[in-house]
Amino acid sequence: MLIGVPKEIKNHEYRVGLTPESAAECVRHGHQVVVQSNAGIGIGASDEDYRAGGAEIATTPDEIFASADMIVKVKEPQAVERSMLREGQILYTYLHLAPDPEQAKDLMASGAVCIAYETVTGPGGGLPLLKPMSQVAGRLAVQAGATSLETPHGGRGMLLGGVPGVLPARVLIIGGGVVGFNAAQMATGLGARVTILDRNPDVLERLAAHFESRAATSFASRMNLENELAESDLVIGAVLIPGAAAPKLVSREHLSTMKPGSVLVDVAIDQGGCFETSKPTTHQDPTFTVDGIVHYCVANMPGAVARTSTYALNNVTLPHALSIADFGWKEALRENAHLRAGLNVANGKLTHPAVTESVDGPS
Ligand code: NAD
Repeated sequence: MLIGVPKEIKNHEYRVGLTPESAAECVRHGHQVVVQSNAGIGIGASDEDYRAGGAEIATTPDEIFASADMIVKVKEPQAVERSMLREGQILYTYLHLAPDPEQAKDLMASGAVCIAYETVTGPGGGLPLLKPMSQVAGRLAVQAGATSLETPHGGRGMLLGGVPGVLPARVLIIGGGVVGFNAAQMATGLGARVTILDRNPDVLERLAAHFESRAATSFASRMNLENELAESDLVIGAVLIPGAAAPKLVSREHLSTMKPGSVLVDVAIDQGGCFETSKPTTHQDPTFTVDGIVHYCVANMPGAVARTSTYALNNVTLPHALSIADFGWKEALRENAHLRAGLNVANGKLTHPAVTESVDGPS
């Protein structure tokens, strides 16, 4: 199969569909890989790195879209990319079609077979092709929060881990799922005093068993949240209610109970945010201050660490890419129900029930 990897063109997207190592793996499986020149520049991978593994380099995206049997990308195809898709061509990437009917319409019209990373399921439940980005965001949330706590960034001038003789900062993590767990790993590793709130007793039990005395766990009742907010220097919002907007757990009034210069990092901002005062920000201008509290609300946090994010993503996307290439999409999907759950568009129709309902309304 001819596998094509165009350079991402979405604003500030530096990741790439295949790393040089993944491209080489595809070549080892007997496939031809064509990568657009400079596609890997954002992760520090040169055209030469791709060539060394046996991939070929194309100068323009047109050459790739015109010849590839399968296009491997990161972000949803932009309008100009959608216009280049061909009937029967496989598109394997993040799509997030539910809130994007325009894209859904174009993909159906293209006749391409579109497999979306975000709806591929895993044997242990969950969405394994989304998980690495939550891992990255959780870990980055602590770095972003630590920087925001510094005086020049508007914070209260605290080092997360303190120093001998000076107490470390208090970190409150709301939501102990993938983001929350990874944030807690980083914050405890840096020596902060960490509390994790969640509403799910099983999650609390798992966290308590893992962190033992290195982090406290508490049920996310309103009173517990309010008590913790007043004590915390850094608060990380990491809740998710699948399929719904994030609940607003911290109101504007709550800010007045917090210490001036404290920091809120709203990782759930991509679902609307879990703090009332949050609004999406960018890596160029990541923070703003409301009532003396610094807010960090970047909606695409993994984009800041494109190299780590691309490698983490490839760890989970490559095995499926190989099976699609080795066996053809029909056979690969027939054999693997989890990969089948990733099929969003085929034969000019939406094929994923949840996506269909979001785009067309309930049937
Ligand atoms: P997850 O499902 O693994 O964890 C969510 C946790 O929130 C669960 O443990 C759940 O019990 C808990 N929860 C739900 N409601 C709660 C409440 N009211 N109080 C306390 N806990 C509550 O989800 P995740 O993968 O960790 O993702 C968390 C959020 O981070 C999501 O909104 C996701 O979209 C977002 N995210 C953002 C970025 C970014 O770049 N900003 C990147 C990755 C993920």
